[in-house]
Amino acid sequence: MTSETLDLTRELVDEAFAERVAPDPELLRTCMGCGTCSASCPTGTAMDYTPRQLWRLMDLGLKDEVVRSRTFWLCVTCNACTVRCPRGIPLMETMLALKSYAVQEGLQVPEGLLRLRDTVTANHNISGDPNETRLIWSENLPRIPEGIEAKRGAEVLYFVGCVGAFYPRVYSIPQSFVQILERAGVDFTTLGGEEWCCGYPLYAAGMADRVAEMARHNVERIREMGIKRVVFTCPSCYYAWTHLYPNLVVLDDLQFLHATELMAGLIEGQRLGLGPVERVVTYHDPCDLGRKGGVFDAPRFVLESIPGLELREMANYGENALCCGGGGDVEIAEAEVTGAVAARRLAQAQGTGAGILVSACQQCKRTLAEAARKARVRMRVMDLTELVWRSMQNLEIANARRGFGISNNSQDRPASVREDEGR
Ligand code: SF4
Ligand code: SF4
Ligand code: SF4
Repeated sequence: MTSETLDLTRELVDEAFAERVAPDPELLRTCMGCGTCSASCPTGTAMDYTPRQLWRLMDLGLKDEVVRSRTFWLCVTCNACTVRCPRGIPLMETMLALKSYAVQEGLQVPEGLLRLRDTVTANHNISGDPNETRLIWSENLPRIPEGIEAKRGAEVLYFVGCVGAFYPRVYSIPQSFVQILERAGVDFTTLGGEEWCCGYPLYAAGMADRVAEMARHNVERIREMGIKRVVFTCPSCYYAWTHLYPNLVVLDDLQFLHATELMAGLIEGQRLGLGPVERVVTYHDPCDLGRKGGVFDAPRFVLESIPGLELREMANYGENALCCGGGGDVEIAEAEVTGAVAARRLAQAQGTGAGILVSACQQCKRTLAEAARKARVRMRVMDLTELVWRSMQNLEIANARRGFGISNNSQDRPASVREDEGR
């Protein structure tokens, strides 16, 4: 935050700036300066101007001061400001519009975001790996599910997303999810190497004009396969398909679900057998799934369906959940800011006394697990898919033990499960 005095001479003022850039300039002018947006912003303390100050600068037409600021590059697109603004101003969208303006005008775009754009354009994914290796995570499964790649007419298409596909620390999320689907008898497939990045990372970098090509490609491939339902473990992919794609392509006949919703439906339909997980857990709502996607109940229903598990909410949860810091490409532009935000969220999780911090997002898991590692905190960070898979395995082990008359002694359990219980 800055307290410098600005020179308001005529030459510095571009009165039409807000008109040209803000999604709703009229509404932006109704800002009453209450500061709720700044107080809600997880990265506000790292910004040179707080969100409230930035809106004022825009209103005054101080374009150069606005575009020189790093404030909008530090927006993690958590949407907390928008849902809390008493005037209902689309503030996250205004931050994104400023990024777009800077990109279009070639103004101080962080190097990392330009590299991201080039990587996604060249490789159709965010990591730069050969796109045909998108199913590499499946090679470590005990058995690769039949029809995992490009099965025509499957009941469900699992859109894996770049993070799950290419970042080994979260391979266990798609691995767990496909095993859950297989055990539940869901007829599923993936696009394999034909899956392209959903485009969300470019949207978050102010490059939304590049998303249409990705939307068209992904939707056409799914249509060719004759599939009507698409499921996501990545909330950002889910958000892109449900909030960005409808403005770009016709989706009328397609249905979208996040993995938490699909698992909740399978539990209700008694298609998942869950065994005991006698642990206290807390749940972190990913911004793209909760505050932006409106999915709060399904993950909690799934957690509460696991026998022996106790869910303790953090001080901020549901629509008021704090961001983990992993959104908006801020990790690419300024990794230490992401680390500081994640550390705050981790501290809230510790405050519940839970031993496991559960989320439903690859990026949240990466960010929060890294914060726990750096702080040397003994808190396990798991995705809900991993926890459900563990619960299902616990039931299978218990059933096998009963069937073979094995005692309940923990030494009889496989080493991997015993280790897991100790964490
Ligand atoms: S919360 Fe809304 S009204 Fe309050 S300062 Fe921020 S933009 Fe203005
Ligand atoms: S969307 Fe989140 S990070 Fe961005 S300005 Fe609003 S509160 Fe801050
Ligand atoms: S939003 Fe989804 S597809 Fe897009 S980069 Fe993230 S994981 Fe990849």
